[in-house]
Amino acid sequence: MKVLFASSEIHPLIKTGGLADVAGALPVALRAKNIDVKLIMPAYSGILEKLPPVQSRRNLGNPFSVGDLILLETHLPDSDTPIYLVQCQSLFELEGGPYLDSHGNDFADNDIRFAAFSWVCAMITQYGHLIDWQPDILHLNDWQTGFAAAYLAAWRLEHPPVVTTVHNLRYNGSFPIEQFDRVRLPHDLLNLHGMEFYGRYSALKAGLVYADAITTVSPTYANEILTPTYGDGLDGTLKAVRHKLFGVLNGVDYNEWSPSIDPYIHTHYDLHSIDQKLYNKLALQRENGLPESPEAPVFGVVSRLTEQKGLDLIPDAIEPALEKGAMFILLGSGDKALEQQYLALQERYPDQVSIRIGYDEAYSHRLQAGIDMLLIPSRFEPCGLTQLYALKYGTLPIVRSTGGLADTVFEEGQHANGFVFQHASTEDLKSAIERSLIAFNDLEGWRIKQIQAMSQDHSWDRATATWINLYQSLLNA
Ligand code: ADP
Repeated sequence: MKVLFASSEIHPLIKTGGLADVAGALPVALRAKNIDVKLIMPAYSGILEKLPPVQSRRNLGNPFSVGDLILLETHLPDSDTPIYLVQCQSLFELEGGPYLDSHGNDFADNDIRFAAFSWVCAMITQYGHLIDWQPDILHLNDWQTGFAAAYLAAWRLEHPPVVTTVHNLRYNGSFPIEQFDRVRLPHDLLNLHGMEFYGRYSALKAGLVYADAITTVSPTYANEILTPTYGDGLDGTLKAVRHKLFGVLNGVDYNEWSPSIDPYIHTHYDLHSIDQKLYNKLALQRENGLPESPEAPVFGVVSRLTEQKGLDLIPDAIEPALEKGAMFILLGSGDKALEQQYLALQERYPDQVSIRIGYDEAYSHRLQAGIDMLLIPSRFEPCGLTQLYALKYGTLPIVRSTGGLADTVFEEGQHANGFVFQHASTEDLKSAIERSLIAFNDLEGWRIKQIQAMSQDHSWDRATATWINLYQSLLNA
């Protein structure tokens, strides 16, 4: 079975969030099960330098009048996983991140950028001779690839089944209708049952309505997005297509995220040597200029700083714990007001709070290994990967009961591995933090929870069986 897996970010090449982790790991796990998966992503600045030399190069012309689109092929570093890159200087060789310029603003031509990328994905399904390989399944991810489903619908040609995975419904890739002609799609797609979206048009909606199957990244989120609260204006659309909507929980790449082999952390440990985790805590405290204190409970956060993550609740909710001597260490970037709020907390508690604004992959590993509890008070969370990493590191997550957090973190019962609260309020979070402090003081009980956390298997290996079944069912349909 041949699968073309399209993503706008892939770890370790470029990453803004969980999508990159998934795109870097699921295809590799599927290939280990003999599924012939190839990746495709845009050739952003600096990407080719991170990859082995290009093996082939095809010019696909200039359909968007922005310069030629060139399709390059190579493979992931230290892996046999093939990857195609869509090269176009004016669209992708820019200063900044994949979606935002260096000032943090959306690129003004994000519609054309990702339409062009998606157009190439759609072309490959039709013209396999371009690359001597034609996929049986086209697997799209998020709005940046949704245009591909629209091109296939517009061309009205036979094409392989399309799967769209929603990693975050909030980012719907919507643009002004007046700009629609820029993406070279016919106007008959602009209707309520097509791409039209509240007076705009949405690339994600195209990915939903024109796909043969839709998946999202946890069973709970798959249910939540059918409601107005979580549906972000697409709940009606999703309800109409719920027969083809599935929740498939993300996995973890344990080659990257295991405290027994993690090259970034101070001291390796596993289920049988949890005591050694302490050396990572001391090293983290040292690294941050905090007093080395084995007894102080250390709370942490690794996150994009956005409204979604509920991080505005933490400064007030954590204060009673800080008053009792706890520590708090954060790594994140995003919302400027939130950044300021956290820096102010650091100023008030300089010996207990350490805030690092920025993005730092290696430090995120050291943080996960060194803290005792990871705070994730998300207002919504499609799957969430940081709680899965925390579990593996014997770091107990404190989460709001939503999406993938609700599917993976439990406070009660034999699977208890963390702390769970219901409402996105300071009070609820404060009370969960209090419960965690009480539990932390019961060393034996804490160890049992850590063992439970560390023994849970969220490997991709488990998820691949579900994926293969889904692909197979589409081919048999
Ligand atoms: P989302 O995709 O909504 O950002 P996830 O929990 O699914 O949330 O994935 C976030 C990923 O990004 C994790 O791998 C996490 O470790 C990483 N991450 C988030 N913020 C940072 C940061 N500031 N520095 C390093 N890694 C980060």
